[in-house]
Amino acid sequence: MAHRSGRHFLQIPGPSPVPDRVLRAMAAQTIDHRGPNFADVGRKALDGMKSIFKTQQNVFIFPSSGTGAWEAALVNVLGHGDHVLMYETGHFATLWMKMATRLGLKPEFIEGDWRGGADPDQIEARLRADTAHEIKAVCVVHNETSTGSVSPIAEVRRAIDAAGHPALLMVDTISGLASVDFRFDEWGVDVAVSGSQKGLMLPPGLGFNAVSEKAYEVSLKGGMPRSYWDWKDMKGINATGYFPYTPATNMLFGLNEAIAMIHDEGLENVFARHQRHGAATRAAVRHWGLEVLCAKQGQESGVLTAVMMPEGHSADALRATALRHYDISLGNGLSKVADKVFRIGHLGDFNDLTLIGTLSGVELALRKMGVPHRAGGVDAAMTKLETTMFEPIAAE
Ligand SMILES: *Cc1c(COP(=O)(O)O)cnc(C)c1O
Repeated sequence: MAHRSGRHFLQIPGPSPVPDRVLRAMAAQTIDHRGPNFADVGRKALDGMKSIFKTQQNVFIFPSSGTGAWEAALVNVLGHGDHVLMYETGHFATLWMKMATRLGLKPEFIEGDWRGGADPDQIEARLRADTAHEIKAVCVVHNETSTGSVSPIAEVRRAIDAAGHPALLMVDTISGLASVDFRFDEWGVDVAVSGSQKGLMLPPGLGFNAVSEKAYEVSLKGGMPRSYWDWKDMKGINATGYFPYTPATNMLFGLNEAIAMIHDEGLENVFARHQRHGAATRAAVRHWGLEVLCAKQGQESGVLTAVMMPEGHSADALRATALRHYDISLGNGLSKVADKVFRIGHLGDFNDLTLIGTLSGVELALRKMGVPHRAGGVDAAMTKLETTMFEPIAAE
């Protein structure tokens, strides 16, 4: 393809653009992962991820996609035939449920309409009915990347406790971590799953598990046959900063740089920035006269916004036009909402002007495609940005 001048806008909700600082850190020469210089790299990454998950407990890092970290979470604590309660927030919750089935678990899927986060009341009611405590884990997606909805994780924990149920709380925060408020210890999460290519601003290639002491104890006595994903193999050697097999060395260089950047900005400021950009994006979408897929007020994601196309118009055609004419990649609608929605990613290394550029790309594509809309969405977003300016709090 011919050279295109200017910067490509990678506005899909992961992978997100990688900051130059991170790219430069990754461009260092690969070192001996068993040599003396590696221990600091490994320890810094493991401790740094604890600060991002907000946990004093265990964090494990795998050279894997988020899907691998999903599998690691399930196989370490659940045994063949175990019942798990999952909630259909969207496409990613559905994929995790299918994985559970393939691994021989018995997932029970609470049906959702893809327009909001998981409902703690339904979870509590189901757990109360499970008097025999057959359900071993409750699995919820924190930020559902296919719909742009956030599940209230603290309330899910309260629902489990209110039901007096011993099930573990397992959370997919692959696209939520480092973008949407997440507190592993405070919220009583047992296993959290994440990946490198969303809020952490890295390329794809690292998978994470944060693991409570309780879940770790469960894994020592149970789980499924496993080798590559085994937490125990990791834990012993991680204490010295090393890994049981070759880690993704250069990804760890990048991870340490990304964590430093996040703490420079301040984790709470990062969350506030995402929320503000989500609000400005919704202001634009509503001004255009289009509908935001997430219909639950207060659960709209600061990571991405899924936008419903008007009847008779193709979201994929709009995305193709946006890419061809304005060099911007937008996220596609997945499975149930394929071609019906497109997704605007506003996560990671992102600021007010990236948002305006992104929304301009969408509005230009709406014009070019003749999609009925009210002009001026970008202006509505600017007004929102102006009225929601915030003074960042001093970094921690
Ligand atoms: C991206 C994503 C996944 C899948 O991660 P991969 O790295 O593509 O395997 C799972 N769940 C959520 C919520 C995601 O955003």
